[in-house]
Parts: sequence; C-alpha cells; structure tokens
Amino acid sequence: MTTPRLPSLAIFDLDDTLYPYEPSHRAGTAALVQFAAKELGVKERAFLDVWDGARKRVKDRLGATGSSHSRLLYAHEAIEMLGLRSQPGLALAMGQAYWRKYLLAAKLRPGARDLLSSLRFNNIPIAIVTDLTAEIQFRKMVHLELDQVVDHVVVSEEATTDKVGLEPFRVLFDRLPRQESAHVWFVGDSVADVSCIERLVADGLIESGTGWLLAGRGEAPPGALTWSRLEQIEDALHALIPGAREASA
Ligand SMILES: [Mg+2]
Repeated sequence: MTTPRLPSLAIFDLDDTLYPYEPSHRAGTAALVQFAAKELGVKERAFLDVWDGARKRVKDRLGATGSSHSRLLYAHEAIEMLGLRSQPGLALAMGQAYWRKYLLAAKLRPGARDLLSSLRFNNIPIAIVTDLTAEIQFRKMVHLELDQVVDHVVVSEEATTDKVGLEPFRVLFDRLPRQESAHVWFVGDSVADVSCIERLVADGLIESGTGWLLAGRGEAPPGALTWSRLEQIEDALHALIPGAREASA
C-alpha cells in the first residue's frame, strides 16, 4: 500500500463524496414524478421515459460541461418533447420540485465534518471542485453548511469543460498560490475524480498528488488509495502529523 504524503491542498468532489447521492436523487425523482402527474397529466412510466430522453438530448448536445447536468434544461427539454412547446414557468417549477426534495434528503456522510475540521485545524487548505451549475452547487453547500469551512470552490459552469477536461482545475490553480500545488489530495467517488492527477502533473498544474477513491467504484489508478469511510482519510492525516491534535480535542 502506498503511504500518502501530507497534502499542501485537499480537493474534494461534492456529489456522492461529501454526502450520498442516491437518497437525494431518489427523493428528487419522486418529486418530479408527482409534478408530472399533477401538472402535466403524464403517468410515471411515460414521464420517466421522456425525462431520460430529454437528459440524453441535453447531454449529447452539450458534452462534458456544467450545463449538461442542469435539471432545469432537462425539464425544459422534456416539456418540449411532450409537445407542450416552451414553458419556462413549468420548467422552473419542475427544476425546483426536484432540487427542493433533493436538498431536504441530503445529509453529510459520517466523518465529513470532522475530516474538514482536522484539515482546517492543521492549516491545510480545502477546495471543492465539482461538475454542474454554480447556483445549485452553492445551494447544496449552504444547505450542508460547507460554505464556511471550505477555502475554494470551483463549479464546472465556471469553466469551459467538466472536470474530465481539466478546465475547472485550471480555474482553481489560477486562484491559488503556487506552493499549494506541491502535493494535492483528491478525494472522490469516481475513478474520473482521481485519474486526473497524472494529467495535472503532466500539464504542470500540480507537482504530485494522491487520489482517494470511494471503494467499490472501479479500479483505482496506480498509487491511489481507497476509502469506504471518511474517517480513514482523517486517520491517514493524523498519522502524517506527529502529535497532531484533533480539531475537537
Ligand atoms: Mg461525485
């Protein structure tokens, strides 16, 4: 097993990393189904097929960009596909129905707050780099009370590509002092989150990095570590700081 080095910066993915995605997405989808039945007179199965089709159209058109994840755009497209032409008011209400229930179901993963506190306590800057549009990602952060504990946030809507195209990382490192790119920890739930490290090194954006991949989400790239509880990452941090005090101590 690779021994991690103390990070000069810790970058977290947001969705499904700091909180679990599935319960929120399920709640949001149930709200959409309810909305479609009540406001559009479309039954669940038919609606979900149209929603999937709308999502695919938007993603095919926009590629890997922040707006390709916009539920507002999926709603807008779905309403067109149902033959109702553009209905901006309905699209907004649908998007809001989804996100309202989504946010209500969102809870930080156990250990998330302690890990972030420990990083802060040990003067390690924290960034969130996440795909999607800024308004909803900022709302999630405020709802989860992450906005005051994170130093930097980049949402892919601010860049020309999603994380996979590395542009959000360019935005981030343009904002940071050079010494913070010496050794970066990347904590994420997908192989894509940690497999960018090699390309970031090759492009000279960082000197080196350690990836932390959620266990069971695919094959970890060479040198990456896996986590199933965020406490494991906090333990690794404490092991690297002799005599480290915990933020709660
Ligand atoms: Mg994620």
